[in-house]
Amino acid sequence: MQELLERKKGLRRKILIVDDELIAREILGAMLNDLYEIVYAENGAKALEIIKRDNHTLSLVILDLHMPKLDGFSLLKILHADNELRRIPVIVLTSEKGSEVECLQNGAADFITKPFDAPEIIRARVGHSIELAEDSIIIHETERDSLTGLFNKEFFFEYGKKIDEMNGHMPMDAIVIDINRFRIINELYGRAYGDLLLKKIGSGVHETVQDRGGLACRSGSNSFYVYIPHNENLPQIMPKYIDRMDRAIGDHKISVRIGIYSDEDEALDVEMRFDRAKLACRKLRNTYTTCYNLYNSELHDKELFNERLINDMDRALDDRQFQVYYQPKYNIKGNAPVLASAEALIRWFHPDYGMINPGVFIPLFENNGLIHKLDRFVWNEAAGQIREWRDKFGITLPVSVNVSRVDVFDPQLGEELTEIIGNNGITAGDLLLEITESAYTDNSQQISDTVSSLRRLGFKIEMDDFGSGYSSLNMLTTLAIDALKLDMVFIKNICSDSKAARLVGIMIDIARLLEVPVIAEGVEKKEQMELLKTLDCDIIQGYYFSRPLPPEKFAGLIEKQQKENNDAYNR
Ligand code: C2E
Ligand code: MG
Ligand code: MG
Repeated sequence: MQELLERKKGLRRKILIVDDELIAREILGAMLNDLYEIVYAENGAKALEIIKRDNHTLSLVILDLHMPKLDGFSLLKILHADNELRRIPVIVLTSEKGSEVECLQNGAADFITKPFDAPEIIRARVGHSIELAEDSIIIHETERDSLTGLFNKEFFFEYGKKIDEMNGHMPMDAIVIDINRFRIINELYGRAYGDLLLKKIGSGVHETVQDRGGLACRSGSNSFYVYIPHNENLPQIMPKYIDRMDRAIGDHKISVRIGIYSDEDEALDVEMRFDRAKLACRKLRNTYTTCYNLYNSELHDKELFNERLINDMDRALDDRQFQVYYQPKYNIKGNAPVLASAEALIRWFHPDYGMINPGVFIPLFENNGLIHKLDRFVWNEAAGQIREWRDKFGITLPVSVNVSRVDVFDPQLGEELTEIIGNNGITAGDLLLEITESAYTDNSQQISDTVSSLRRLGFKIEMDDFGSGYSSLNMLTTLAIDALKLDMVFIKNICSDSKAARLVGIMIDIARLLEVPVIAEGVEKKEQMELLKTLDCDIIQGYYFSRPLPPEKFAGLIEKQQKENNDAYNR
């Protein structure tokens, strides 16, 4: 490409003149040699040799048809059939009218008739042919991805729009193909292998487009877009297509995911169709086999809903749409359960959607850093609440807050928490910190450093959702924690399933080994509570005692507990 651009800027281009008649070669040479560097061949075989040798520097071939050894027609056919050599324009020298059509069909760019016209005419024809050929190469190369030869994204969309305009309302399907875990493949097997893979998939995609008509491009590093006439039987043909794709890849370790926006006769432009196909494709992330997903409007609505929540979050904080609820935890070791602490759980009262549970928005906010702000809001609220109840009831009820896995990486975490308790006049021991078990398994070194430093500051750590995160037993014994909260799923069936009950017994034994109390979450029924009591569980949290409550209602539970304490004292 660079070479071509330089030649366009005015370097002398090289022309090959092929004719068995010396006189013809010399006349043509004389007409052109002040503008071009000329090489000569007296037959087709010699010419082919030179063309192969000078492939990258030759700008044009002027070719006589009748020659010994290899004639002009045959040479023209060879050049036309060769992917590389085809780019060199050929002007045919002819004295007979009849051969022109056949020459054009075999790729000739133009003709010069014998006897020769005036030099100006010949120079103009030569100059014109070279310019046309060079421009078309430049266009081709800027439009195309150099590795796969497919369009690049920009031109793809441009031509896609043209197709839509020209074809009126011909229905088209948008297909996105992504290679699973491409970055890792590149790292494991090297870039050359990654490139080879892209080429293979690229030619598979190219074949499909050639078969069915349509357009294809490579977009970004590992994504392919295909815009193709609509097929009614897409779900039926997909397995065949996937099979073909897997065969093109030829490596069972590697798979692709395919997202499809099948034409639904909506007036969408091509880019929007691909946005939807991409969305369908994204839903297949973390798959290990080649599979596909068809876009549907539910998917879209969900995505729009998520987008809206992300957009609304800042305003919602300012407008105090978020409210912290508190769910009590009761100590069941004695005869009567005793209110021991509470868990702060956030609720969103959205002006349009009503109350939204954290299970809906927390995972969204964890993906984009918004959780940072929200968690700090909750910690502040909870700390203020502890203080308020202390002032009002004269007791300190510890409250646990959830610490997201992203918080664990925040080097300022300890400082921030210390500031929060300081501002609210409580101590580190009053604000319990819940960290989900899966955060421990994801990054065990980081978490044990964070946990150790928080504990040095006086904070107590509860491992949340224990049993769901596949901690190794070895890791557990080395971890410094202050309580284990059993995951709700284990509690669900303890009354009907003896294995579930035994499993909970084993987890409680682990807590004994670690010398920390056990909290069971999600306790809804009396029988569950009683069974947990026989299994030696310490603390219980669940609907059986109370759902999470707004602070004013929760205050009723404190008052009730205080009354029971007084009654017991007076008895
Ligand atoms: P989690 O920390 O494990 O909280 C316990 C969840 O179990 C709460 O759901 C609670 O309402 C629910 N639950 C309690 N008892 C029962 C029961 O008896 N039956 C049933 N079916 N459910 C019960 P919630 O409030 O919807 O919170 C879900 C998750 O969202 C929490 O799980 C926690 O991981 C996260 N979360 C809540 N608030 C916050 C927050 O302020 N920050 C962060 N980072 N995460 C939060
Ligand atoms: Mg929790
Ligand atoms: Mg939990």
